[in-house]
Amino acid sequence: MTSTRQRPISITSSDRDVLDSYKRLYEESTGESIDWGKFLGTVALLGLAAAGVYNLVRANKRSPQTVDVECFECGSTFVMAVPTGTDRAIHTRCPECDAELVVDLGTLY
Ligand SMILES: [Zn+2]
Repeated sequence: MTSTRQRPISITSSDRDVLDSYKRLYEESTGESIDWGKFLGTVALLGLAAAGVYNLVRANKRSPQTVDVECFECGSTFVMAVPTGTDRAIHTRCPECDAELVVDLGTLY
């Protein structure tokens, strides 16, 4: 059995500086300090949404643990639970039409 090993991605020091500065900007704009995994996951989701791979939708806070999400595709509104420690962006599916959505929680949480 072959095991999948994690390989380091080689980046140049200038790439690293650019990423560092983006992470700093993100932390300044959101007021939160996050680790690299969270940062890259959030940026990847928001980036894919910006590229049109996913539909980006905004959420309205409903309670401390839930948000109202309006589907970009069919227009229906559904309630989504937001576990504590959730990243800024969540990938989900509309329960009505099954459209893939990226929910931008912004600074709601
Ligand atoms: Zn829908």
